[in-house]
Amino acid sequence: MSADCIFCKIVAGTIPAKLLYEDDEVIAFHDIRPLARVHFLIVPKAHIETLKECTAEHQALLGKMMLLGAKLAAEQGLVGYKTVMNVGREGGQEVFHIHLHVFGGGPAA
Ligand code: 5GP
Ligand code: ZN
Repeated sequence: MSADCIFCKIVAGTIPAKLLYEDDEVIAFHDIRPLARVHFLIVPKAHIETLKECTAEHQALLGKMMLLGAKLAAEQGLVGYKTVMNVGREGGQEVFHIHLHVFGGGPAA
């Protein structure tokens, strides 16, 4: 847990989010500024700043995030969709707690 991390606060329940899924390792919630009709984030509960910090130790967690994204996309009725992980400021990352974006279903309302 990092005290000034917005996603750690969502994990801790101290700021609200529209949750789609939660277990002991990961949480999924709708993005607050959706880029598509359906846009949600898969977030590990552990505070890991970027994909660059990940090692073989995180392999199962990263795989779990991808498969959970696919499962939740199907549950949201998405036939096709994009998955994106921005890495580092130069890669467009704004929240430095790793997360997988899943979005699709046409333009945001
Ligand atoms: P990044 O650019 O780091 O890959 O994406 C961060 C994403 O987190 C953005 O799409 C942004 O809209 C979303 N986001 C930032 N703050 C919050 C928040 O407090 N709640 C939710 N649900 N999403 C957030
Ligand atoms: Zn965090």
